[in-house]
Amino acid sequence: MSRISALGGWVRARRKPAIVVASGLLFVVGWGLGYGLGLERASATLLVLAAVVGGYDVVKKAYYTLRVRTVGINTLVTLAAIGAIVIGEYWEAAAVVFLFALGNYLEARTMGKTRSALEELLEMSPDTAIVRRGGEETKIPAREVEEGETVVVEPGAKVPVDGEVDDGESAIDQSPVTGESAPVHKATGDAVYAGTINQEGALEVVATDTGRDTTLERIIRRVEEAQEAQAPTETIIERFATYYTPAIVVLAVLAYAVTGNAILALTLLVIGCPGALVIGPPVSIVSAIGNAARSGVLMKGGEHLETAGKIDLVAFDKTGTLTKGETTVADVEGFGVTEDDVIRYAAIAEKRSEHHLADAIVEAARDRGGGSSRAYVTDGGVASGLESPSNGDDHVASGIPNPDTFEVVPGKGVVAHYDGHRLVVGNRTLLADREIEPAETATAYAHDREKEGETAVYVALEDEIVGVVSMRDGLRDDAAAVVAALQDAGVRTVMLTGDNERTARAVAEAVGIDDYRAALLPEEKQDAIEAFRESGHVVAMVGDGINDAPSLATADVGIAMGAAGTDTAIETADMALMADDLRRIPYAVGLSKATRWNIAENVTIAVATVVLLLAGVFAGYVHMASGMLVHIGSVLLVILNGMRLLRY
Ligand code: ADP
Ligand code: MG
Repeated sequence: MSRISALGGWVRARRKPAIVVASGLLFVVGWGLGYGLGLERASATLLVLAAVVGGYDVVKKAYYTLRVRTVGINTLVTLAAIGAIVIGEYWEAAAVVFLFALGNYLEARTMGKTRSALEELLEMSPDTAIVRRGGEETKIPAREVEEGETVVVEPGAKVPVDGEVDDGESAIDQSPVTGESAPVHKATGDAVYAGTINQEGALEVVATDTGRDTTLERIIRRVEEAQEAQAPTETIIERFATYYTPAIVVLAVLAYAVTGNAILALTLLVIGCPGALVIGPPVSIVSAIGNAARSGVLMKGGEHLETAGKIDLVAFDKTGTLTKGETTVADVEGFGVTEDDVIRYAAIAEKRSEHHLADAIVEAARDRGGGSSRAYVTDGGVASGLESPSNGDDHVASGIPNPDTFEVVPGKGVVAHYDGHRLVVGNRTLLADREIEPAETATAYAHDREKEGETAVYVALEDEIVGVVSMRDGLRDDAAAVVAALQDAGVRTVMLTGDNERTARAVAEAVGIDDYRAALLPEEKQDAIEAFRESGHVVAMVGDGINDAPSLATADVGIAMGAAGTDTAIETADMALMADDLRRIPYAVGLSKATRWNIAENVTIAVATVVLLLAGVFAGYVHMASGMLVHIGSVLLVILNGMRLLRY
C-alpha cells in the first residue's frame, strides 16, 4: 500500500514530463510500426494513443475555457487534433499534440527561472533567532520572536528581525534589503533589517518588527503582487486574444468551405495559436521586476514599469534628495544681540517644530550651551530649564525652554511666544507676512550666504530682526553624476524646493540640473508636477516619501528614496528605492526603457511568426507539425528574450 502511494507521489511530481515522454514514445513507436513495418492498423492505434495521452490535459483545459465562453490556445489545438484524427491524419494529430505538450513543459520550466530573483529574496529570509528570554539565550524560529524582545546576532549570522541596536557595534551587509553591497556600520540606536548579514561583532537588537511585518517580508509580498499585476500591454493583448482566437476558428472553417482542403484548415488552427504573443510581455515584466528587486528597487508592477519607460522629465526634491538631508548651522550673525542669543531665541521658537532646519538649530543651541546632545525627551509644556539648576535631566541640561505658544507656518517657518515676547523665525516670505522689514545689513548678510547655497533663517524678536542663522546641507556625492546620466539618457531634470531663489540657484548650478523652481509651498510643488504633465511630459518625482507624498502621488511615477524603514514610502510610492542611493534612479529609468523595448520586441517576434507561418501555409510549405514546431520555437524565443532583462 505504502509502496503504491509512494509510487503515486513519485508519478504526480513527474506527471508533466512523464506525459511528454509517454506521448513521445507512443508517437515514435507508432510511426515506426507504420512507416518501417507497414503495420497500418497498429500504427494508427499507437498514434491515436499518443494524441490521447499527450492531449488529455489540453482537452480538459479547452473544456474549462469553453465553459467560461472563451476560445483559447487549447481549444485550437484540440480542434486541430480531433480534426486530424477524423480525416485519418493520425501522424499529424500525434505530432501536433506531442509537440504542444513538449512546448508547454519547456515553457513552464523556463518561466520558473524568471522568478529566480524572487526566490533569491525568499532565501534571504532568516530562519532562526537567538532570543534572550528570562536571562537565558534560546534559539527559536525567527518567526516566533516577539516585538520588544532582545535578540543576539552573532558575527556571520543573519539579523532575524527588524530592530534597533541596543548594544554592540558591527558592519552589516544590507544588500538583501537595499541592494547596496558595501557594508554599513551599525552601533547603538541604529536600525537594522531582517535578512541582512552581520559581518563583524556581536549585536544585541531589540525587535521592532517581526515575522510578516519586516521590511524584507513586505518587499517579498510587494514583488509577488507586482509580478502578478497586469501591465497595460498585457491587458490589451488578452482582450485582443479573446477575439483573435475565435476569429482563427472562423478563418479555418472558411478556408475549408472555399478550398475543401481539410489539412489546410486544420493547419490554420495550429499556427493561429497566439502563444508567443500572450506569454512575451509577462516574461519581460516579471524578469525586470525581479532584477530591480535584487538591486534594491521595488517596482509596484508592470503598469508603473511601462510608464517609467516613457519618463522624459525627472523632478527632484532638493532637501534630503539632492542634498544629504543633514542640515547643520554653518554660521550665526547677530544684529544688536550676541550670536548665542540669536541661536537661543531661534531654538526656543523652533523647539517644538519637527522641521529639519528646526532640529539643526536646536542641536546647535544645545551644543553652544554645552548641554547634552542626546535626544530631547520632554513632553512639552512644563519645562522651563532656565531657572532650574542642572540636575542631569536632559531638557534642563540643554537649557532651552519651551515656548508658550507655537505655530508652524508650512514652507515658511514658525511663530512662537515666549515670556511675553513674539519670536518670528523663518524665511523672507514669513517676514513679509508678518510685516517685518529686515534691516539692510541683515538682508545683505543673508544674500551672501544664500549665494553659497546655504539657507538663511531670519530671527525676529517682536518686529525687529535680531539675527540670521545660516544653514548648510551638503550635496550628495552622486548628485551631479546622476543628473548628468539622466541628461545623457535624454531626460530633462528639474529641482523643486521650498528654499529661496538664491540658494536654489547655487545648488542647481552645483549639480548641473536643467531647471529649478524655488520658494514653492508644499502644494505648489504638486502644482509644478501637474504643470509639467499638462505640457506633455511623462514625469517622475523623486522625494522622501513622507513630506513629498502629495507630489509623488501626482507624478506619473512617484519614486521614494531611502524607503527601507519607512512603511509609508513602500506602500505609497510607485517605485521605492530601498537605499538612499541616487544612482538607482538612472538604473531604474534605464531598466524601464529596456523593458518597454523588450516587450515591443516580443510582440514583434510573435506577430512576425504568425504572419510568416500564414504565408507559408498558403504557399504550401507549412503543415501542421512543422507549424507547431515553429510556434513552440517562437514561444521559447520570447521567453529567452524576456529573460535577458534579468541580467540588465
Ligand atoms: P524643503 O523641503 O524644500 O526644504 P520646506 O517647505 O520644508 O521646503 O521649507 C521651505 C522653506 O521654508 C525653508 O527653506 C525655510 O526657508 C522655510 N522654513 C520652513 N520651515 C521652517 C522652520 N521650521 N524654521 C525656519 N524656516 C523654515
Ligand atoms: Mg523636503
